[in-house]
Amino acid sequence: MKSEHTNSRSIDRRTVLKSFLTFGAGISLSALLPEKAISDVLNSPVRRNYLRPPGALPEPDFVATCIRCGRCAEVCPYHSIEPISLKAGLQAGTPLIHVEHIACYLCMECVKVCPTGALRDVPAEKAGMGLAHIDEERCWAYNGKALCRACYDACPYKNVAIQLIHLKPVIVEDKCVGCGLCVAACPVQIPRAVNVDPLENHLK
Ligand code: SF4
Ligand code: SF4
Ligand code: SF4
Repeated sequence: MKSEHTNSRSIDRRTVLKSFLTFGAGISLSALLPEKAISDVLNSPVRRNYLRPPGALPEPDFVATCIRCGRCAEVCPYHSIEPISLKAGLQAGTPLIHVEHIACYLCMECVKVCPTGALRDVPAEKAGMGLAHIDEERCWAYNGKALCRACYDACPYKNVAIQLIHLKPVIVEDKCVGCGLCVAACPVQIPRAVNVDPLENHLK
């Protein structure tokens, strides 16, 4: 559940953004569009398995700071980053990583080229993209369908961010950086048995 602080920050942000989107002689966005359309324009695209690149500022600051230059996507050697479609309103052109498709390999090239600090130049172990969760009902290692350890083998922080305890993978919450390499490697499909949820500060 979101905290009161988060909700009030979210409302403040909406108020600011609505003001920002006021045109000419006092004609506001809310006068032109229904509330649902305004909500679609303002909502963050960040959600389970759809994450900002490493080092991203908290979401409202990120959206305000990113100039949609595309350098992070251009430099990524793995093509992990995709700029959001032009149809996405205020979010258009901002970078997103769909970790089920291509995860982040934590090479940290993107943070070096971001000209605005929207992606902070943090070390890989501070990438802060999200936190992995294992669905024990779907995970083969837990439900006994196979001796699977694909997520464990894929993790760049094996035995630190993810451990094998009695042959079952366990996420270490304060060490997982949310790169999604475990998600990409999971053989259980739709949905995966391991998924990455964004940290609270990456949600609207
Ligand atoms: S850290 Fe490397 S792999 Fe990850 S998104 Fe940035 S450039 Fe791509
Ligand atoms: S490099 Fe920085 S400013 Fe440019 S699109 Fe990526 S996050 Fe935004
Ligand atoms: S547990 Fe998954 S998301 Fe977390 S650091 Fe390891 S591979 Fe990345």
